Amino acid sequence: MFELSEQLELIQQALRPYCEKELQSKVDALEEGELPVFELMKDFDGVFGISSMLAGPLKKMIERKRKKEEEGVEERGSIDELLGGEVGTAIDPMLLFVVAKELSRVSPSFALSFGAHLGLCGQTILSKGTSDQIEKYALPIFAFEKMGCWGLTEPEAGSDAFALTTTAVPDGDQYVLNGSKTFITNAPYADIFIVYAKIDRGDAKTDKRMIYPFVLERGTQGLSVGKPMHKMGMRGSPTGEIFLDDVRVGLDQLLGKKEKTGRAQAKETLASEREEAPAMAWGIIERCLDESVKYAIERKQFGRRLVEFQLIQDKIARMYVHLENVRNLAYKQAWAMREGRGSLRDACAAKFYASAAAVEVGMEAIQLMGGYGYMHEQHVEMLTRDAKLLMIGGGTSEIQLLNIAKELARDKGVKLSLAGGLQV
Ligand SMILES: Cc1cc2nc3c(=O)[nH]c(=O)nc-3n(C[C@H](O)[C@H](O)[C@H](O)COP(=O)(O)OP(=O)(O)OC[C@H]3O[C@@H](n4cnc5c(N)ncnc54)[C@H](O)[C@@H]3O)c2cc1C
Repeated sequence: MFELSEQLELIQQALRPYCEKELQSKVDALEEGELPVFELMKDFDGVFGISSMLAGPLKKMIERKRKKEEEGVEERGSIDELLGGEVGTAIDPMLLFVVAKELSRVSPSFALSFGAHLGLCGQTILSKGTSDQIEKYALPIFAFEKMGCWGLTEPEAGSDAFALTTTAVPDGDQYVLNGSKTFITNAPYADIFIVYAKIDRGDAKTDKRMIYPFVLERGTQGLSVGKPMHKMGMRGSPTGEIFLDDVRVGLDQLLGKKEKTGRAQAKETLASEREEAPAMAWGIIERCLDESVKYAIERKQFGRRLVEFQLIQDKIARMYVHLENVRNLAYKQAWAMREGRGSLRDACAAKFYASAAAVEVGMEAIQLMGGYGYMHEQHVEMLTRDAKLLMIGGGTSEIQLLNIAKELARDKGVKLSLAGGLQV
């Protein structure tokens, strides 16, 4: 449980040199906005062959799904099951964790955009789309021909994610979408947009469950995006707004082509975002520790190497304790996902702990390096700014704590609400 399989070990060994040479050499250009993150994703795919590995299983999945649809059977299951187990360990959660970890040692921004493209957008279409929708929208995403984004958050609906005001008003055989989304990863340059809207038949304000994912394409009349937002960290990952102004779509752009309560689906996708956070934190912590030990051995003050000072040893040892805990949490999460034994409380606890640990370790790494650590030239400076996002994106740390308390109270028969007080 606490070791990588031989195959994953080999994958990690292949990823490390690519990340430390190819990716590292492009981090500054990525951060400065001179190199589009999608170009880098295509490069990554060219080296590791993700699209060619997935092309066959995806086509078979579409054929199988189409036959079932003709028989009137709706296929359900995990992505692994839907793909018929064809890619084997390719979708082992631990593989995804190892990839996110290795990428995050060098560029958490790249990992974030990559996850939003394939995970949030691509997987949502795979798990909820019809065969036609998968063929039209998911195939180009998994082939790295089109970039995807996933938009739930709105200016007035963040932690209270389902208080959406974006509406989809039925009009004949179409829907008319109006509203806006904010803080959406990849939105400024995305080609495919998943956006959540409330079907508004007059009772939308009172029924929070009527939330549906629509899939839209760049160039659609009424759909526009804002410029990339200026951020504290994750600067290599474009974040932006999406505006919907009388956007007309047919039923074929409602994921699943059938109106049904879509809230559970958005929750599933949010869970996958939450699950990736410990892996990203793992990478950030591991790299900060590596850099700190190296620096403490090289840097001399008072005629001694920093590493000889016990206060510096204390910092290094504490960083290691966090690394050990976060690594164990990542292994546990991957195991639980593989075995279908994941729980909301454990996933929230892992995200809460790992994201705070990444920020703490980053800050300590900067402190250990003194003025040099505060400078851009030291990688830990960027990693620490990036780490802060892990405490906000995919549900804030406070929301993770509330979810844990809510679950624990529910075990004792008390139903709490995230809005405070009891659930009504
Ligand atoms: C870089 C970046 C990328 C993102 N990418 C995406 C994306 O791809 N798709 C997407 O849909 N969203 C995305 N988000 C949005 C992200 O999920 C939200 O920012 C997050 O859920 C928090 O919402 P908010 O920012 O509106 O904060 P708010 O909900 O306004 O929260 C503000 C503060 O109040 C606290 N708070 C809120 N409610 C409670 C409560 N009941 N009790 C105690 N404290 C509370 C919060 O914890 C926080 O500290 C991204 C955000 C960022 C910054």
